[in-house]
Amino acid sequence: MNLLQKSAFAEVNEKVQQAGHLLNLKPGVIQALSSCEREVVISIPLRKGDDVEVLTGYRVQHSSARGPRKGGIRFHQDVDLDEVRALASLMTWKTALIDVPFGGAKGGVAVDASKLSLIEKEEIIRRWTRSLVHVLGHHRDIPAPDLGTDARTMAWLMDEYHRLEGFQPACVTGKPVELFGAPGREEATGRGVAQIAAATLEKDDVKVKGATVVIQGFGNVGRYAALVCQELGMKVIALSDVSGGIIDKKGIDVESIFMHKSLEHVQSEERIGAADVLELKCDVLIPAALGGVINENNWKRIQASYIVEGANQPISIEADTQLRAQGVVIVPDILANAGGVMGSYFEWTQNIQEFSWPIEKFRKELDTRMEKAFDTVHKTSKKYSVDLRTAAFLVSVERVAKAFEMRGSLV
Ligand code: NAD
Repeated sequence: MNLLQKSAFAEVNEKVQQAGHLLNLKPGVIQALSSCEREVVISIPLRKGDDVEVLTGYRVQHSSARGPRKGGIRFHQDVDLDEVRALASLMTWKTALIDVPFGGAKGGVAVDASKLSLIEKEEIIRRWTRSLVHVLGHHRDIPAPDLGTDARTMAWLMDEYHRLEGFQPACVTGKPVELFGAPGREEATGRGVAQIAAATLEKDDVKVKGATVVIQGFGNVGRYAALVCQELGMKVIALSDVSGGIIDKKGIDVESIFMHKSLEHVQSEERIGAADVLELKCDVLIPAALGGVINENNWKRIQASYIVEGANQPISIEADTQLRAQGVVIVPDILANAGGVMGSYFEWTQNIQEFSWPIEKFRKELDTRMEKAFDTVHKTSKKYSVDLRTAAFLVSVERVAKAFEMRGSLV
């Protein structure tokens, strides 16, 4: 980050404060909503031959005003306290926006997940869980997968939690279906992103069928977003992951490459750089990898008409302002990728009830509730004559502020 750039947490708080002022909230309430309830930083010694390497891990709990804190855990070399704070805060606004009874939290470990063996990954998540077990639990704080972690990682987390605290599969979501996971959770974030992209086009009377889509990221979010975009009739013309990207103007057959772990060995006539896909001409651009990828360095070269944020915070506030001024419609992360936490909510409730839904019911519930959130944000943007991000924050900040004030005890 250069000195002129705002920190990720400061960027989220700018939106929270803007919404707070528009809603006429008291200054103290705005300050409370801009702060995190609890931040825990731990060291994680990882065996390396006959020595150890000490990693840093985090869990930040931003708010419990509307329910137990909820949020993923990320393994990435760039993880730091500021990023985790920002992501924890975004979870508060996301869970409020889709109206599920959760607050917000986030966790992470500063480590390059691509360089870890399976055993190392297991060792790290077990240690992370042991160190944080006192603040976790199905009615306290419920982790889920994020960048660099997956269903297998959540299975280890659950297993470690069970050893320490006894059986409670609702202590974590995004687990494998074989181990108390919910059929439909894995695809939920990407499915939601694609559905929201289609709904956004429809709202503007743009034809969904044949609309061109470019996606950065071919992990959990990116690959399911690509698949469902294709199922909805859109044409995915480019995809990229950390190894680089592929282009096919006629439309990539996403289904045929879906099982490839990486795009590195996928056959393609044309290849492109991992970040260069962002600058391709298309109807819908879906950044679904890292934060901050669209910023003051590249916003002038963005050619998409719509940007649907699959990743968290992929666009800096400055780039967001500039792009909107040029007529680009931006669907914010707290709406676009909320299908993940919606799916986590379904998994959590099923675990608590020891009951399981068929995938068809999961998908129907997800689609209906995402549509409702989308409509609420659209109506709010019209009511206040604001962009979709500001509207989304207005809805969620109002809900959290009401819960915060009604609780009385101030948490
Ligand atoms: P993942 O680890 O499954 O996949 C990440 C993808 O990004 C991989 O394909 C990786 O190769 C690619 N990538 C990494 N660095 C890149 C680079 N420099 N250039 C291009 N591609 C790069 O992670 P995920 O779960 O799909 O999460 C992706 C984003 O979506 C994150 O911002 C995450 O916070 C957000 N998100 C995830 C979920 C979820 O349910 N998994 C929910 C909401 C939001």
